[in-house]
Amino acid sequence: AKRSGRRGFRYYSKELTEDAAKRLALESELRRAVERGELELHYQPKVSFPHHEVVGSEALLRWRRAGVGLVPPNDFIPVAEETGLIVDMGNWVLREACRAAAEWNAGGEALHKVSVNLSARQFESHDLVSVVGAILDETGCRPEWLELEITESLLLEEDGAILTTLSAFRAMGLSIAIDDFGTGYSSLSYLARFPIDTLKIDKSFVQKAATDRRHAELVKAILSIARCLGQEVVAEGVETAEQAVFLRQNGCQVAQGFLFSRPLPKPDMASLPRRFAPA
Ligand code: C2E
Ligand code: CA
Ligand code: CA
Ligand code: CA
Repeated sequence: AKRSGRRGFRYYSKELTEDAAKRLALESELRRAVERGELELHYQPKVSFPHHEVVGSEALLRWRRAGVGLVPPNDFIPVAEETGLIVDMGNWVLREACRAAAEWNAGGEALHKVSVNLSARQFESHDLVSVVGAILDETGCRPEWLELEITESLLLEEDGAILTTLSAFRAMGLSIAIDDFGTGYSSLSYLARFPIDTLKIDKSFVQKAATDRRHAELVKAILSIARCLGQEVVAEGVETAEQAVFLRQNGCQVAQGFLFSRPLPKPDMASLPRRFAPA
């Protein structure tokens, strides 16, 4: 038993070394990805009910990694968060998204709001608010063209700094959305405490609601809370016509999902229809 234990240990530690080496390689490549211009933003349209008019889009990060291809965010954002690289990447995302928003709203009217995902790590740097302000100035993006998506976990910390930061964003005229609403650590009290404009219902709820009565009731309850608090609801992960019909009938204002469009590279956004055919 002792011998196999030792062998087991040796095997285990070799695996660890390989994992660590892979991670280190990923980390150093990721570090250079911004400078090398390997990051790309794709945009997934959001449409309003009932006419499926495009009202905005969510900016979603991809990494065009040399020799590998297009890497999805879930494969590199966790490492970027652990190492703190997400702060530089996040600033790149904000600048790029604001440039796009300035272009798409060039007429002046807020025709197309762009949403950007922010990581909790970005809130740890004390200058987030001034960085966002500087990026708006630099790109000519008006605050009402930009929405920041944050996750529920950020609001659980009994930390006045988050409230201060979000209030500053609100005062600047930006809007704030809660992402993946309903998963994670939902605590309704934060809906009263924080300045929140939009709830994004998580795709797991959206997808189950069309077929499962209990999920349907939960989605209706979320829509009702949001209505009472004056918040807009965006349903994410809408894939079928049934889901879209259910959402529209229950007063959801905006939908996002493969039923309408996948996330698109920026050049493809130019040929987007103004509205999608009704489901
Ligand atoms: P998320 O913010 O919840 O983004 C929505 C994800 O759902 C996207 O995956 C999108 O492609 C996918 N999706 C959209 N419609 C549908 C649908 O109808 N069905 C299904 N099954 N999926 C759909 P993606 O682009 O792989 O992004 C994954 C996550 O990575 C995002 O989840 C977000 O948490 C994170 N992420 C993406 N870009 C950024 C970024 O710039 N900064 C940060 N901090 N996180 C980002
Ligand atoms: Ca999001
Ligand atoms: Ca989401
Ligand atoms: Ca998600």
